[in-house]
Amino acid sequence: MNFTIQNVLISIDDAYLTVDVQVVNDKIAAIAPNLDVIGTTFDGSNKLLLPGFVNAHTHSSEMWQRGIMSIFPLELWLAELYDFAPLDLEKVYLSALGTAVETLLSGGTSVVDHLVLTPGLELETIAAAVRAYREVGIRAFIAPLIQDESLSAGIPSGKSVQNHDPYFRSTAATLQIIEEAVKQFHRPDEGVNILVAPTGIQLCSDALFTGCIELSDRYNLCRHSHLLETKAQEKLAQEKYGCTAVEHLQRIGYLGDRTSLAHCIWLNDTDIKILAQTQSTVVHNPLSNLRLGSGIAPILKYLQAGVNVSFGCDGASSNDSQDLLEAIKIGSILHNITDLDYQNWITPKKSVEMASLGGAKGLNVAEKIGSLSLGKQADLVLYDLTSLSLLPRTDPIGLLILGRPTNVVHSAWVNGKQIVSNHHVNTINIDKLRQELFNRSQWETKRKSPSVAQIETHYRQIMDL
Ligand SMILES: [Zn+2]
Repeated sequence: MNFTIQNVLISIDDAYLTVDVQVVNDKIAAIAPNLDVIGTTFDGSNKLLLPGFVNAHTHSSEMWQRGIMSIFPLELWLAELYDFAPLDLEKVYLSALGTAVETLLSGGTSVVDHLVLTPGLELETIAAAVRAYREVGIRAFIAPLIQDESLSAGIPSGKSVQNHDPYFRSTAATLQIIEEAVKQFHRPDEGVNILVAPTGIQLCSDALFTGCIELSDRYNLCRHSHLLETKAQEKLAQEKYGCTAVEHLQRIGYLGDRTSLAHCIWLNDTDIKILAQTQSTVVHNPLSNLRLGSGIAPILKYLQAGVNVSFGCDGASSNDSQDLLEAIKIGSILHNITDLDYQNWITPKKSVEMASLGGAKGLNVAEKIGSLSLGKQADLVLYDLTSLSLLPRTDPIGLLILGRPTNVVHSAWVNGKQIVSNHHVNTINIDKLRQELFNRSQWETKRKSPSVAQIETHYRQIMDL
């Protein structure tokens, strides 16, 4: 599509400039004052144009359990989550729609969905999410969540001998599903990408990691996993490998510039150097980390070591929303308490760069998206600077990142196609989505998770509680 955004504010170095932005064949063709009009015109006056952000880690189907999950650490929380995980493909579709919409309306134009697969309906689950993301028009990076060990294996055994049930599906069968998903759905030019996404060292064998590396190399796929989200996982890595999880993943060749790793809380200084050397990306999910008491990721250390960092909301059951601007704000100012030297703190402009270019780098698409640069695809967001929450007029990026912006996304384009206009997603019927989410859910209070009852005593023992 061709269009011209006129008189829009952009940020360059330490200043704001009012310019016109021409988009020709879905790519940014010119940025300068007083350009000729090409294609449709959009009035950019009193608006700020930024590259679209990347919601670099989430689990869309968790939307169905947001607000109700117990106040638990990850290991117990996961047991509860899976006891009540939805099996219905229509629900998978609807929560992917909801995740896309909330991401878009908080500045994101790309989403990484570490998608929980319904057993026996794995390809159908992926198809339902693909259908939703294609309908909305957001750029989708679907990372089917796989494992080959049962949930109890994710908790360190301590001094006791623990027997774990075998996982219900073989490693080979799981890898076959991913390969089939790549063949059916991986269409980067159409904005739909499949990633290899072993959930993490806590539930995956080396055979699964190695199979994923092989698929990633053969089909040029990005790699995505959780990494050292909890203290328990740090202990587990030592039990399993006799070294840190990062050392082990480096040894088996999983790390690299196409690898993004969610959380990365319990890493030591050597691990951080390894992430920098391998050019791996850290996805920071501050709200989930606070909600589950997982810890504070050493983000300032990553940035100083030259590690690429982006932001994610994480699934809505551990957040309990998909507001990317909120994740960026908390994920930026949280670290001021970890380092007295304020010169190391994250500035609002740095936050914007991490959320856009940082996200793109982690997905190996920094050549295509992530900044307002000539030749890049038009993944753009226009913020309304007359919104009450962005007034009075001060520093637009400062207030967008540090304030409490509400209903500020005026327009958004993905790959040159406008999918948000005048504060509304225009590709799907939002009223219908609201109605479906309402009709398919119930107000509830406390639930009892049988799996939590089974593992809680052991968990408390090994964590010295
Ligand atoms: Zn996650």
